[in-house]
Formats: sequence, C-alpha cells, structure tokens
Amino acid sequence: MCLPLFHYYNTTSNGKKMQTSRSIYIETYGCQMNMADTEIVLSIMSDAGFTRTNHLTQADVVLINTCAVRDNAEQRIIGRLGDFYHYKKAKPDVVIGVLGCMVERVRKELMDSGAFIDIIAGPDEYRKLPSLVEAAQNGVRGIAVGLSRVEKYDDIIPLRTKGLSTWIAIMRGCDNFCTYCVVPFTRGRERSRSRASVMKEVEDIIRQGFKEITLLGQNVNSYCDGNHDFSDLLASVADVDKNLRVRFMTSHPRDMSDKLIATLASRTNVCKYIHLPVQSGSDRILELMNRKYTVSNYSNLIRKIRGVIPEISLSTDIITGFPTETEDDHKQTIDLLHESNYDGAFTFKYSPRKNTKAWSMKDDVPEEVKNQRLDEIIYTQRSISLDRNRVMIGRTTEVLIEGTSKKSDADLCGRTDTNKMVIFPKNGNVAGDYINVRIERANSATLFGTQEHVFHQSPVLITRES
Ligand code: SAM
Ligand code: SF4
Repeated sequence: MCLPLFHYYNTTSNGKKMQTSRSIYIETYGCQMNMADTEIVLSIMSDAGFTRTNHLTQADVVLINTCAVRDNAEQRIIGRLGDFYHYKKAKPDVVIGVLGCMVERVRKELMDSGAFIDIIAGPDEYRKLPSLVEAAQNGVRGIAVGLSRVEKYDDIIPLRTKGLSTWIAIMRGCDNFCTYCVVPFTRGRERSRSRASVMKEVEDIIRQGFKEITLLGQNVNSYCDGNHDFSDLLASVADVDKNLRVRFMTSHPRDMSDKLIATLASRTNVCKYIHLPVQSGSDRILELMNRKYTVSNYSNLIRKIRGVIPEISLSTDIITGFPTETEDDHKQTIDLLHESNYDGAFTFKYSPRKNTKAWSMKDDVPEEVKNQRLDEIIYTQRSISLDRNRVMIGRTTEVLIEGTSKKSDADLCGRTDTNKMVIFPKNGNVAGDYINVRIERANSATLFGTQEHVFHQSPVLITRES
C-alpha cells in the first residue's frame, strides 16, 4: 500500500495502527497577496497530510511567509526569526522554513545565518514544499528560489479560513518596474490565470458561504488571460451571484480603462471603492519613479471616475522622501491630496531596496525630513477623511456585518460597500447580515449609527440620502 506523504502511524494499546497527522504553523507578513499565498501553501501541505495549528509549540513544521517591500517589514521578520532560532535550539526536530519575497532578496544571508533555517522557498516554488520538508526531516537543508513565468497555482484550491470575506489571486508578479519597488524582482513577471480557473474558484467560494470576495493582483487591472481583460473578468465574477460583494486591488492608474469604470458602475454588487495609488503629486518625482502617468493624467482620471460613479470612495498610496524630493515636490503631494479628496491613504517613508533602479540614486532626503513630511501627509489626509466621513452623517447606508465591535460587546461592526467601517448597536443582528444603518456621527476612520431597516441578503447595495 502506498502511504500518503507525512502521515505517521502510532500503535495504540490494542495493537491497532492509528494515523496521526503532522501539524504546520505559519505566520504571514505583508500584503493580501501573501495571505493568499499562505492559503495555497496550506492547501499543498494539507494534501501532503499536514494539519494547520495556530499554536507554534504544537507544530512539527514552522513557516514564515515574508515581505520585502520595505526595510521595516524585513527588520520585524528578522526579529521574529530570532525567536525561531531559540525555538529550534529547544526543539531541534522542528522544521523551520522561510517563504516569500524576502527569500528572493536575501537568500544567501538567510542560508548563512545558521543551520536553524531548514527550508527556503520563493513565491513560485511552493509545490516543492512537501519534498523540501521531507528532506529537512532527513537532515538535508533545502533551497528553492526559482521565479517562474508560468506558475499560477490555478489548479490548487487555497485552504481558506472560514469567514465572510476572502480573496482570490487572479494573477502573479508585476512588469511595471517602478524604480523604488522590489516586487518585480521578488515575485517575478506578470502572469494572469485563465478566467475559467478563477470562475471555478469563485463558485467554490460561494458554495462555502463567503459573502465578499477581493480579486487580487499587484496590478490587478492589467489582468489579461489572452481572451479576457480585467473588466470582462470582473463582470463575470459579479454576475455569478448578485449577493456576493466583489472588490479588487491594487489598480494601477494607467490601466484604469473606461470599460472598467463602466463595468464598475453597472454592477450593483461591485463595491464602489477603488484603491488607486498615486505615490507622489510631483510630475518630476513620478517620472523618476517610472509611474508612467502625470499628475494631470491622474487628476483627470479621478474626475472621470467621479463623473460616472459620484458615490465612489477612493484611497491611495503615498511614498514620501523619494530621492531628490524637494519641499516643493512635497507641497505638490499635499495639494494633490486636497484635490483628490481621498477617503483614505496608506503612507510610507521611502525605503531603498537593493536591485531596484532607485537603489543607485542617493537616498538624500534626511530621515527627520522624511518623518516631518510623512506627519504632514498623515495629518492632512486625516482631516480630509474626516470631512469625507462627516458627509455621511444623516444618510442611510447598507452595511455587511462583520462581527462584534472591538471596543464594545454591545455593538457590531461592518463595512459599507465603499469600504468604510461602521459601528452600531447589535439589535439582534449577526455577522453576515446586511442591514441599513443611519449614520449619526463620524471620525476620520469610522462611522457610527443605528439600524434603520433589516435586509437579509439584499441583492442591491444602496447608499441614499434620507
Ligand atoms: N502594486 C501596487 C501599486 O503599484 O500600487 C502596490 C504594491 S506595493 C507592495 C504597496 C505599496 O508599497 C506601494 O504602492 C508603495 O506605495 C509602497 N512601496 C513600495 N516600495 C516601496 C519602497 N521601496 N519604499 C516605500 N514604500 C514602498
Ligand atoms: Fe511595485 Fe509598481 Fe508593480 Fe506596484 S506596480 S508592484 S509599486 S512595480
């Protein structure tokens, strides 16, 4: 008989053989793409006989799925590897593996850092994990860091954690080569899954009872499987079930086509929220970043989107302190924040990354200047977000309930389709219900209100003025 890999057999007191499965613990850092990859890893390992544990101390295999986008993420991971080092000393039989983007960047340093790391596997090498673990259990350290032009894992159904929301990675890699960004080097070239394979997964997700799905890609709106572009895929996904909320990220401004805007406008269950990173409000810096648009292209795009979908909620990413950024460049970014009237922004200090084009530019904005500019950007955006949220006061908006509020057991929290967090009294509702909430107050991050009328699995997502 052929035994499944890694199923171990213990003999019980009555002499019968009992199968015991081995357990795997995995920590994930970084973006949602990494979270999605972790579910692929868990699926591969589950097929090899492993069961997930949330307790490090119960695991036979400990994996860390890493992020390399900024130095501070890497430093946190290096700190965590220090904990694993001590853990391995105390429990030498445990297999320790490092996965993900950092592996592509600092594989040598990781391998040289001591024998406590048994496995190193890059984002395109997860199929090899079972054999790498087996080798590690026989004392052989393993490294697999190849980047593929074809690997999409589209035959693997990710092992999802049960809940309301989930994601599907519809593509991998990125071809944009923004000069600051390490992603094209750590995740390889862009490749899209076939629409058929994505649709199969969507149907599976609906069967599992998820109510919200996010289509993921580093540059999601450049999706193309040869026959279908991103708006074709988005329409197909949205049309499977009008009760399923559909989100997507991250969109590149250059790939935000009229067709995509029209698709977004025409489907009630495609959430009216776009994350549209601009990075800087200065044309000079945008060119140095190789973003391939100007501030005026970007502003026109926002005007166009708002013209078609007035209720749209927009967020962005900003990098502050890119090489040569002057006070005037920074002021232009502040001006753009005001003009764009974003609902939210993710803000980062420039972090030089080896191999990128910007690595050869001098990181000449002093740390304290980067900090000051970052503070000003955060402060400005907070006040814009507050104004945007205050507009909602007195309106009724539909919310998908996510669970109990972190701050009070008497309250629930949920999201509008425009991705705003709302807190409201429980009133007998449960996670997964759609309810209408009348907004009574707001801060820059959250709306607060009370229920107006219950909708169970409403087919229409509404935001209306009362
Ligand atoms: N693909 C997405 C896009 O182009 O908008 C974003 C992917 S990246 C993982 C997320 C964000 O990290 C970027 O939008 C950028 O703002 C930020 N980022 C990337 N590289 C960075 C760096 N070297 N220093 C600081 N922030 C960086
Ligand atoms: Fe990085 Fe630019 Fe690709 Fe985004 S689009 S992943 S910032 S190279």
